[in-house]
Amino acid sequence: MTALVIGHKNPDTDSIISALSATNLYRGRGFDVQSAAQGKPAPETQFVLEKFNLTAPEEVHEVAGRELYLVDYSDLAQAPDDFAKAKLLGIIDHHKLGDVTSDSPVECYIQPVGCSNTVIKRLHDYYQVAIPKDLAGAMLCAILSDTVLFKSPTCTDLDKEAAYDLAKIAGIEDINALGMEMFKAKSNLDASARDLIFRDFKDFNMSGHKIGIGQLEILSLDLINDELMQQLTSELDKVRSEGRDSAVLVLTDIMQEGSRILVSSDKAQLIVNALGGSLSDNIYLPGVMSRKKQVVPQLEQAFKA
Ligand code: MG
Ligand code: MG
Ligand code: MG
Repeated sequence: MTALVIGHKNPDTDSIISALSATNLYRGRGFDVQSAAQGKPAPETQFVLEKFNLTAPEEVHEVAGRELYLVDYSDLAQAPDDFAKAKLLGIIDHHKLGDVTSDSPVECYIQPVGCSNTVIKRLHDYYQVAIPKDLAGAMLCAILSDTVLFKSPTCTDLDKEAAYDLAKIAGIEDINALGMEMFKAKSNLDASARDLIFRDFKDFNMSGHKIGIGQLEILSLDLINDELMQQLTSELDKVRSEGRDSAVLVLTDIMQEGSRILVSSDKAQLIVNALGGSLSDNIYLPGVMSRKKQVVPQLEQAFKA
């Protein structure tokens, strides 16, 4: 049966484009696969798909009895709910090692780089599989998205190298202009507070605590007016009440390179302290841009204690 190449819940651009690019890689190696996504593309991803004439992967939520390749995660909380009834074949990722496991050997490529598409680009080189022009453009966008135009502390030389190679394949000269165009699409706040919180949202199990962390990356935090900030704050309380111990929203200002943090938790003090802020102010953390590197590890540590 055709195996699924599937990204994480609340898919971001890297997760959706990884499903497409890893499918290209696996097919190039002769594997029978098709791409899938656990949700619809967010505005940024929509922009990328349209720009490069690509079709979104099929939306799949039930995977019982299927064979799976995971891209851009290895956490159970981000996998389909019935993951235990599927067969894991492989993982390509760039996050901390998660808690999925398998009952037979798996092929894993996990590297501490800024984007799953960087790993996938390198695997295309390794296995000598060609990357079509449009797919290369979308993979470049995924790298620009995950590394926030190379500005995130998660960005490595390997990400830049992959991005320049992909730009060449895609025939793109002005990488920065493409990135700005994409982040403009990403900064679209014309959605409900709930949709904004879940646009890029991940649940984590931290020492038995269920913590949901959303991130909204926009060109300027000034785009969020007082009314919207109010709505985000009260919706976050609701999100927490839906079976989570804590809910956090990281509002990242791409141009200023810092983040404002909203917290709904009875451990708010612990969370804010772990991130290096204080509860008294409007919790703005200069230099904080990466959930993966500057938020999740700090909270994992804090909840371990
Ligand atoms: Mg992702
Ligand atoms: Mg990623
Ligand atoms: Mg991201």
